[in-house]
Amino acid sequence: MSSTTAAARPPYDKQGDASDAARVAAAMRSFVREFGVTAAVHMEACVRCGMCAEACHFHVATGEARYTPVYKLELFRRAYLREAAPFAPLVRALGLVKAPTIAELERWQELIYDSCTMCGRCTLVCPMGIDIAELVKEARHGMFKAGLIPERLALMDRAARQWNSTATPGEDLPDILAEAAGQHGVAIPCDLPQADMLVTAAPAELGEHTKALAAAAKILNRLGIRWTMHSEGFDASNIGFNNGDMELQERLTRSLVDTAVKIGAHTVLLPECGHAYGAARWEAAKWYGRELPVRVIHMTEFLDEVITDGRLRVNKIGASATFHDPCQIVRRGGLEAAARRVLAALGFELVELQDHGVAGYCCGGGGGVVSNQRAAPLRQKVFDIKRAQVEATGARHFVTSCGQCRITLEQGAQRAKWNVLPESLLELVADHLAD
Ligand code: SF4
Ligand code: SF4
Repeated sequence: MSSTTAAARPPYDKQGDASDAARVAAAMRSFVREFGVTAAVHMEACVRCGMCAEACHFHVATGEARYTPVYKLELFRRAYLREAAPFAPLVRALGLVKAPTIAELERWQELIYDSCTMCGRCTLVCPMGIDIAELVKEARHGMFKAGLIPERLALMDRAARQWNSTATPGEDLPDILAEAAGQHGVAIPCDLPQADMLVTAAPAELGEHTKALAAAAKILNRLGIRWTMHSEGFDASNIGFNNGDMELQERLTRSLVDTAVKIGAHTVLLPECGHAYGAARWEAAKWYGRELPVRVIHMTEFLDEVITDGRLRVNKIGASATFHDPCQIVRRGGLEAAARRVLAALGFELVELQDHGVAGYCCGGGGGVVSNQRAAPLRQKVFDIKRAQVEATGARHFVTSCGQCRITLEQGAQRAKWNVLPESLLELVADHLAD
């Protein structure tokens, strides 16, 4: 691996010792595989209207043209025109479009890993319906194959391949859960041979955010649900999507569903962290090749259901609050109303951010950007957008329903010395259960 230090060039990392030519060939092979009908239609449809530029927080925060969504895809588009477009042989023969070079791929790394959270805000405004976030995901696949991803993400990828989870080997889970149970005074079942619900965790909930795990346990125990966590399938992760390692993502997601089936569970409960939602809720059936044998449900959806149907009662807090909408749960997941119903049940007077719901700005850390340390300065610029919008509401509470957004926003607040910390919707519910 290597990392450039040249001041004039964006940073990039390399994995393995393949030659430059082999890296370019690997990336191109992967791109061509990704150019299915949907990608092709999207590549052909762009009318260069520029509307997506003002939707992207990285472009808005910096004003730099290279951070416009459409520019981020330029290399992918060139690969398409040369390899898969209707007149590709002619384009190649006449040299109408240049083949991507290793230097361009290296520079591209910053554009599709450091400055794209795959949040889909650009997709929302595109008049042609082009799913830029999805195309970035496909482009990352080629970069992974070429050994050209940020080293922080590559490190996590190697660990996940070895452990079959992002940050915790399965054999450590019983001890971690026992410690969290003792610390928070709540029972957290592990490795039960039979259960109705398999409960999963985000990596941070097994480390710095065990309170969220304990909050889930408190609620599930109150409801009398027969649930368990399981060392064979517990990691609610999208690390493969983030890195471009689709084989890893499939393995991680399948382990959740397979474990649920093994213990007879009819439901997989995803944690408050929303980053696994896309993989487990929308993509898993594709890998299975049929309808999933279990229901996959996000924590916010679950809270909404049990509060709305009266199974769970909460006390009212009675204060003003504003809410950060996590992209993967709300814009790409459709759970905008669910979180608001839970906030209302808690008696919050909701003061919406200027941009909220499906149009909300990303926290700046999605798509693996929060794990990519070298992207921190860029992330901080994006954080300033959110900070200004939160301050403008004057609300007393700043709430979100995604643990990963919370980590990103906490880091941003810490760096900015801003004295407002985001609160977890799940933890607020657990802390205000009615007797
Ligand atoms: S998906 Fe989000 S971060 Fe990526 S280009 Fe679009 S708006 Fe920007
Ligand atoms: S909004 Fe859509 S059509 Fe317009 S430039 Fe962006 S990707 Fe192209």
